[in-house]
Amino acid sequence: MTATSIAASNTPTRDRLGRPLRDLRISITDRCNFRCTYCMPKEVFGKDYQFLERSALLSFEEITRLARAFVQHGVEKIRLTGGEPLIRRNIEQLIAMLAEIPGLDLTLTTNGSSLAKKAASLKAAGLKRITVSLDSLDDAVFMGMNDVDFPVAKVLEGIDAAAAAGLAPIKINMVVKRGVNEHSIVPMARYFKQQGHILRFIEFMDVGHTNGWRMDDVVSAREIVDLISKDMPLEPADPNYTGEVAERWRYKDGGGEIGVIASVTQAFCKDCTRARISTEGKLYTCLFATSGHDLRALLRNGASDEALHAAIAGVWTKRADRYSEIRSEKTVKLEKIEMSYIGG
Ligand code: SAM
Ligand code: SF4
Ligand code: SF4
Repeated sequence: MTATSIAASNTPTRDRLGRPLRDLRISITDRCNFRCTYCMPKEVFGKDYQFLERSALLSFEEITRLARAFVQHGVEKIRLTGGEPLIRRNIEQLIAMLAEIPGLDLTLTTNGSSLAKKAASLKAAGLKRITVSLDSLDDAVFMGMNDVDFPVAKVLEGIDAAAAAGLAPIKINMVVKRGVNEHSIVPMARYFKQQGHILRFIEFMDVGHTNGWRMDDVVSAREIVDLISKDMPLEPADPNYTGEVAERWRYKDGGGEIGVIASVTQAFCKDCTRARISTEGKLYTCLFATSGHDLRALLRNGASDEALHAAIAGVWTKRADRYSEIRSEKTVKLEKIEMSYIGG
């Protein structure tokens, strides 16, 4: 099949392990106003840290052109991320451009710090749903984790504004780190059960190479489910679709559901359909990659649509990544790309 016929058919391009290309995460800025200890530790991302120049970032036109090309290779869902995506100026304009792509499920992950201000304009631009990260309802714990003393109440205000604007469903991401916030698991579950939002617990991962990850700090998805179940009994629920990252559990009393993302203790590489584009336009086929493929160079050198399609297909069809299945003491030490740059 030629690059043009792949593009024309919208048939998903498959990798060497037969996995289709279905999801795309695009990092639209490598900057963030938080310094979460598990993602952008202050000792590394300090005052002197060199973030990308503005000219290095993909423009909205470049992002939209890539998004359209990826859709033709089978992508159905695009998540904007970062860094903190809501600090990218005029993000509403980008959302409006992407929302014009027919049939695309467009979403965004944010730390929620400016959501109270932006929820209505994001919705008006065409965003349908949103994921907000929040690691605790306890100010001392949350401030210690975001490391910039950002209060819980402001994130909750943002979540309420998103609900009022009609962004639905709202999902909440909580990274759990042993000895840091596991006491927040049950209060978070209780609060978001009552609010009717889906809380998803993420096992602390060895992304990047600066967050000092240790297996001992991981609270497993199993432990999380058992802990909540003691208070509010849970039962397993079927996945919504093949390749869903979060394992679903629903409350036996009919009061909604939670998700657990067990990327460390129950690797889900065999169904991984995700590609990532970094802030400066490099294509990565795994969250734990050490190198990417420069699509920005192609765009800025005037590549034809055909050449772009050939490049995307060329990368995806060679893909054999399964990092979480082969994680070892050796892989943990690799110089992996930081999550704030590649997009979580
Ligand atoms: N700034 C936005 C936010 O925090 O939602 C979007 C980018 S952030 C990198 C995307 C997601 O990755 C967040 O939910 C964050 O909690 C999660 N994350 C970051 N570092 C992580 C780690 N080491 N292990 C597990 N999840 C992590
Ligand atoms: Fe910023 Fe999100 Fe990383 Fe926290 S997890 S430092 S909010 S990019
Ligand atoms: Fe996908 Fe890589 Fe994560 Fe496996 S480790 S699920 S291949 S991103």
